Amino acid sequence: MSDTSSTLRIVWIYPDLLSTYGDQGNVLVLRRRAELRGIPTEVVRVHSSDPVPVEGDIYLLGGGEDRPQILAAQRLRADGGLKRAAERGAAVFAVCAGYQIIGETYGDDAANPLPGVGILDVRSGRGDTRAVGEIVADVDPALGVGRITGFENHQGRTSVGPSAKPLSTTVLGIGNDGATEGAYQGQVLGTYLHGPALPRNPALADLLLRWRVGDIQPLPPSWGERLHDERLAAVL
Ligand code: GLN
Repeated sequence: MSDTSSTLRIVWIYPDLLSTYGDQGNVLVLRRRAELRGIPTEVVRVHSSDPVPVEGDIYLLGGGEDRPQILAAQRLRADGGLKRAAERGAAVFAVCAGYQIIGETYGDDAANPLPGVGILDVRSGRGDTRAVGEIVADVDPALGVGRITGFENHQGRTSVGPSAKPLSTTVLGIGNDGATEGAYQGQVLGTYLHGPALPRNPALADLLLRWRVGDIQPLPPSWGERLHDERLAAVL
């Protein structure tokens, strides 16, 4: 956490542009799971007209339609705050459009490559088909998260460069390319999973908390774990 405070600062980037499919739930679950461990939190909502603070602990970006996604990428690149925060070691959790635009390049609605924020070594283009539906994937065992479940709806396809690693192996659905889903590099993580992802996958929320806080006590299984298991049983 930041040197000057024991409060975990959760920064929600551009709720006005990037927040499809209930991605706000990621903010709520992260905050709740921190507070259940006695960790005080502060949530900072950063609209696209505002500067991005550099001193946050965990930055969240959601999904978006093609045009708002382009605007979000332009503003984040011009602002520079998210990049500086990632360079300071902040954790970043980015979903779908958010995932694409934190990469090196992404495709606009006519498949032209546009520059991303450049904090994750991935490149996204446009697929021939839209990837829509439930998605299940097995996370890199090094991260200790296990199997994740979500909902995807995107035209983009993503390739993972040598500085990043695929987040997971796709079991059901498309993700990056039908074989892998998402990517991570240090404490920057991108995924195609909506649902929202963190309410459906409490272990993923706890990974982000561990990255910033260190060891955290386990919590007894609750609604999140039940939702996770119910979704897996429904689709596999
Ligand atoms: N516009 C992007 C795509 O279609 C991202 C969509 C999303 O965030 N759901 O690939």
